[in-house]
Amino acid sequence: MLKKRTISSKPFFEIDKQIYLPVKGSNSVFPLQSIYCVGRNYAAHSIEMGEDERVPPFFFSKASWAITNSDLNYPLDTKNLQYEVELVIAVGPDASIFGFGIGVDLTRRDLQKKAKIEGKPWFRGKSFPGSAVVSPIILFNETIKFEDLKLRLLVNDKLKQNGSCYDMIWSPKEIMCQLSRDNTLKPGDLIFTGTPEGVGKLEKGDDVSISIPDYINHKFSIL
Ligand code: MN
Repeated sequence: MLKKRTISSKPFFEIDKQIYLPVKGSNSVFPLQSIYCVGRNYAAHSIEMGEDERVPPFFFSKASWAITNSDLNYPLDTKNLQYEVELVIAVGPDASIFGFGIGVDLTRRDLQKKAKIEGKPWFRGKSFPGSAVVSPIILFNETIKFEDLKLRLLVNDKLKQNGSCYDMIWSPKEIMCQLSRDNTLKPGDLIFTGTPEGVGKLEKGDDVSISIPDYINHKFSIL
């Protein structure tokens, strides 16, 4: 049985405080729970990765400490750090859509490729400090149509990814429905919904700019 804290069962030690994300136009903040990611949610990206675009999307996750909204150090043990710009869904109470943002699923592509060949999990390729970059969260309302949103990523002012959420294989609602089948979707969860085509390498010193036109612009650098 898992134990709840009582007066007589105080924890042996305290752990890190809750991580909070800023919400655009609000003084209140979004408490982060788990980070889920969708693999192969755009046919054109599956093709550029040398995979069959008919294979359905699937899930993986990153540790919650992988989150950042600012500059990050070039990670260890890789010579091929790559960007993947993605629509990020923020989950609210009762598995509702609380909001959305733009994020980058940073990937140590060499480690991911090696893991694929060896039939091992992608964890080292996908989860490292700063690997989940996310903008401030934008509050969702029913007038927002995800299929109309565009995702842009520029490296040193050069446009590298220019995708449309219209091309998603699974929509945000379908992703949440699929994820709920065998995971407990909780308020505070973030879901990185997959990347359109055009992924590529980042180097130390690169300035990255991501945007959903009409909604949000966000910048960070690789140190
Ligand atoms: Mn991704």
